[in-house]
Formats: sequence, structure tokens, C-alpha cells
Amino acid sequence: MTPGELKALIRTVPDFPAPGIAFRDITTLIAHGPGFAATIDHMAEAARLSGAVAVAGIEARGFLFGAAIAARLGLGFVPLRKAGKLPVATLGIDYALEYGSARLELDPTLVDPGEPILLVDDLIATGGTALAGAELLRQAGARVDHALFVIDLPDLGGAGKLRAAGIAPWALFD
Ligand code: 5GP
Repeated sequence: MTPGELKALIRTVPDFPAPGIAFRDITTLIAHGPGFAATIDHMAEAARLSGAVAVAGIEARGFLFGAAIAARLGLGFVPLRKAGKLPVATLGIDYALEYGSARLELDPTLVDPGEPILLVDDLIATGGTALAGAELLRQAGARVDHALFVIDLPDLGGAGKLRAAGIAPWALFD
């Protein structure tokens, strides 16, 4: 399936999670067997070309795509978790959301110094979440040169912020 056909499997939900926001819902894409498989095919090819040796996914929707890409390529998967979920000592990063703040945590023993890790999430909007994830991986000693998304919302400028931080963004569609 082409990226355009896959885009047609996304459901846009008006006024979620707040009035005026058009939420891109990926559950209709992953519930479609051929659509999910083709999404992972496209993303795994981009991941292979990035030269990364491991894949990091951002909880929760980044796990769905990141873990499937990692398994397809035979790479390890590193979860970037929400606060308080990991049972071991963590590195953490707090970052601002449009309303309030959030925190991501990582078990730094999963990262080998200098190893190139690919960051994966379902969607990039302002780029704040992806930048926080990349910064956390870098604090743990990883190299983060590439980030993959299913969806880019280009009007929100996130891809440009990643480029400014030395990270090449790739998205299946916008
Ligand atoms: P950003 O930090 O780039 O502004 O927002 C991206 C993060 O918020 C991602 O982790 C993504 O999962 C989530 N997100 C924001 N808007 C949407 C949306 O419309 N659909 C989905 N699926 N996720 C969104």
C-alpha cells in the first residue's frame, strides 16, 4: 500500500482531547492488517537506511511502531517510558506540553555509549516530545541522528526543530 492509501486509514476526530483540536487517531490504521504491515514495511526500510543499531520508542503509541520496526530488522528496542513505570534506576527528562508538563524515563543501562539509536513515535507536532526523547537518549550516551514518525503535522514546526538539533526527521505522510 502507498503512503497515500495508508493516510486514508487514519481517523481524524474533531475536538479531542480539547475543543478545536483535530486528533489523528492511528488505531484505525493498526487495526487494518495489510495497512499495519505496509506501514511497518515503509518505516523499517527508512530505519534500515538510517544505520541505527537500536530503536527507541516513546510511550505509548511509539511502542506500537518502534517495536514492530525493531523486530522486523532484528534490532533491540529501548522503551522511553512515562514517569514511574520502570523498576530500576532511571534517567529522566521533564518537558513542557501545551498545557502542563510531562516526563520521560529511560533505563540508561540499555544504551551502549556512542551507539546510533533511531527515535520512533507515531506523530510529530511541535516536536517537544521527540526532542525530549532525543535529549534523554543523548544524556544516556547514545547518538541520535534520525527520527521516524508515521505522521508529521508540518504546520506545527516540529520537523524543523529536530533538524536544528541535528536530527533528520522522516515521516510516512503529513
Ligand atoms: P509534540 O510534542 O510534537 O507537540 O506532540 C507529539 C506527541 O503528542 C506524540 O507523542 C504524539 O503521540 C502525541 N500527539 C499529539 N497530537 C496527536 C494527534 O493528533 N494524534 C496522535 N496519535 N498523537 C498525537
